[in-house]
Amino acid sequence: MSTSITIARGDGIGPEIMDATLNILDASKVSLDIHDIQIGKDVYEAGHKTGIPDEAWDTLKKTGVLLKAPITTPQGGGYKSLNVTIRKTLGLFANVRPCISYGPFIETKYPNMDLVIIRENEEDLYGGIEYQQTQEMTTAIKMISRPGCEHIIRYAFEYAKAYGHDRVTCMTKDNIMKISDGLFHRVFDEIAAEYPDIKNDHYIIDIGSARLATVPHQFDVVVTLNLYGDVISDIAAEITGSVGLCGSSNVGKNMAMFEAIHGSAPDIAGQGIANPSGLIHGALMMLTHIGEFEAAQNIHNAWLKTIEDGVHTVDIYRPGESIYRATTKDFSRAVIDNLGYEPKRLKAVNYKSKGAGQITFQDPKPVKSKDKT
Ligand code: NAD
Repeated sequence: MSTSITIARGDGIGPEIMDATLNILDASKVSLDIHDIQIGKDVYEAGHKTGIPDEAWDTLKKTGVLLKAPITTPQGGGYKSLNVTIRKTLGLFANVRPCISYGPFIETKYPNMDLVIIRENEEDLYGGIEYQQTQEMTTAIKMISRPGCEHIIRYAFEYAKAYGHDRVTCMTKDNIMKISDGLFHRVFDEIAAEYPDIKNDHYIIDIGSARLATVPHQFDVVVTLNLYGDVISDIAAEITGSVGLCGSSNVGKNMAMFEAIHGSAPDIAGQGIANPSGLIHGALMMLTHIGEFEAAQNIHNAWLKTIEDGVHTVDIYRPGESIYRATTKDFSRAVIDNLGYEPKRLKAVNYKSKGAGQITFQDPKPVKSKDKT
C-alpha cells in the first residue's frame, strides 16, 4: 500500500533539488502517493502573509507528512517566516539535525564527526513577540516552558536510546539567563537521571559551540534551545564539508516535516548546480518515519557510494580529488545508477540496526499551579 505524503518544491534552488530527490525516490520503487502544494515566495507575493494558502493546510493535515524544499522568506516587516508558522501550527516540537563527515571523500578537518543536534522548535525567541518600547528601545520575549523543556529533552534521550547513542549533551546560557535557560538545564538534569545508561553533560553555549567547531567528534547527541540550536546546527553542517549536505526532521505528535537544513540559495538558483544531498537526507529521514527502512537503506548506501566514487557537486568539488564535477541532475542520476550497491570505504548503513523510525513517549505531566517551574 502506498503512503500519502505532501511535497512543497519551495523557492530558489528548491524545485531543482526536489526534482532530483523525487527522481531517486521514484527509482527506488518506494510506493508513495505524492500531493504537491504551493507555498513560499509566490504565495507571499499573492497576498498571503503566512506564505501558505488554506488548501495547502488541508492537504498537509490529511497526509501528516511534508517533504519541503527551502523557502525564501521576504525580509522586512509584514511577513511571517513560513517555516516558523508550519512548526508552530503543526506542533513540530523537535528539530533533529544529524551532521556527519565523509572524509576523505568530502574535505573536512574532522573526518570522525558524527553527531545529532536536537533543537527545541516552538519556543524561545521564535515566538515573534517583539516590542518597540520607545523610539530607541526594542524588546523581544524569550518564552521557555517546563512542558516544552520536558518534551524536547525526553525526546533527545529517547532518540539516543532508539538510535544507539551513548551520550546526550545539553547546551544553555544559564549563567546569564538563570530563569529561562536555568529551567532548561534543571529539567535536563531531572530527565537525565531517568536514563542511567546514557551519559550526560552540560556546556555553556559559548564554549559548547567553540568545542563543536574544534572537537566535534567528542559530541554525540546535543539538545538545546531553539535559537542556539539553529546557529550551532549550521556551524556543525558547514564543518562536515558543506551546508548542502545535511537533512533535518521536524517532528510533532501527529505530523512531521522533512527538509534540508540550508536555505533557498538564491545566489545559485536556476543554474542546476545545487547539491541535492540535504533534501535527499531529509527524504531518508522521512522514509524511516513512515517505516520504509529498506528503501531508505538502499538510497542511503547508493548516496554514500556516489560520494565515494568522487561524483561531487560544486560545493564539495575538489580538483584532483573529485572525479567528476556534477550538476544536480548528474548527481541524482549517479545515485540512481548506484541503487543496489554499497560503498566500499565509507561505512555502509544498515537501517535494521539503526533503530526505529518514530520516537514515542508519554506526554509530560502538567505542572500544578502551586508547583514552581
Ligand atoms: P542559504 O543556506 O540559502 O545559502 C548560504 C550559502 O550556501 C550560499 O552561498 C549558497 O549558495 C550555499 N548553499 C546552500 N545550499 C546549497 C546547496 N544545496 N548546494 C550548494 N550550495 C548551497 O542561506 P541564505 O542565503 O542565508 O538564505 C537564503 C534564503 O533562504 C533566505 O530567504 C532565508 O530566509 C531562506 N532560508 C530558508 C530555510 C528553509 O526553508 N528551511 C532555511 C534557511 C534559510
